[in-house]
Amino acid sequence: MKSPACRPSQPRLAAALLLLLLGLATAGPAAAEPAGQIRTLLITGGHGFEEAAFYHVFQTNTDLIFAHTSHAKTNGGTPLATAFDQPGLLNHEVVVLYDMPRDLTDSQKAGFRSLFDHGVGLVVLHHALVSYQNWPEYERIIGGRYPEADGKGGVVTDAVGYQHDVEVPVVIVARDHPITAGLTDFTIHDEIYWGIRTAPNLTVLATTTHPKSGKPLAWCRTEGRSRIVYLQFGHDHQAYENPNYQRLLAQSIRWAAHR
Ligand SMILES: [Zn+2]
Repeated sequence: MKSPACRPSQPRLAAALLLLLLGLATAGPAAAEPAGQIRTLLITGGHGFEEAAFYHVFQTNTDLIFAHTSHAKTNGGTPLATAFDQPGLLNHEVVVLYDMPRDLTDSQKAGFRSLFDHGVGLVVLHHALVSYQNWPEYERIIGGRYPEADGKGGVVTDAVGYQHDVEVPVVIVARDHPITAGLTDFTIHDEIYWGIRTAPNLTVLATTTHPKSGKPLAWCRTEGRSRIVYLQFGHDHQAYENPNYQRLLAQSIRWAAHR
């Protein structure tokens, strides 16, 4: 039973309401965000893609507070990794890379490294395996590389290459991992790479029985305080619209966010 003395008087109620409203008005964006959503920054630039269909995957994921930025092009038309210079980079819980710059400055390298000091998660997608061919640290951090045969990315050889519009049988390897939870083996219409290099100490999530495809297709690791995931999937809308791809991506972001 409540004591009448605990009931606030009308003036005290009004004052409390005023304080509450003032608090809401002065609070930063974090306080106004719906609870539980993951502050996620998508970085693109340096490789074309079906933009509307790709953004749709993020915009319809209600788990996310979704922001997007693109690396700026230099005078020569080549993008540098300018997104890593942005002061707000560390305000995100997860950074998703669907970019493919060729090079980056020392300050951009420092911005990239700062993610791992602050525990920001990193989800690396598809052609971002090709970025920074001349920076070995990137390969070490993300756990692999597509090594360009000609240094320009366009040449396909028996040793290293890619092929579009392939039916790729996907085999889930890590069946008890949060990223693959609820998923069983599936087929996806997508691009394949071959001749990729991967580090020996990765947690492999998915591979394929396709004889030509580079293996594995998905893995994760940790770097500093951060969790890192690579998903090879995702060339165009035929992959983006695959519910298994959407689930893998969503669960990768959630895991990278330490959720
Ligand atoms: Zn592609």
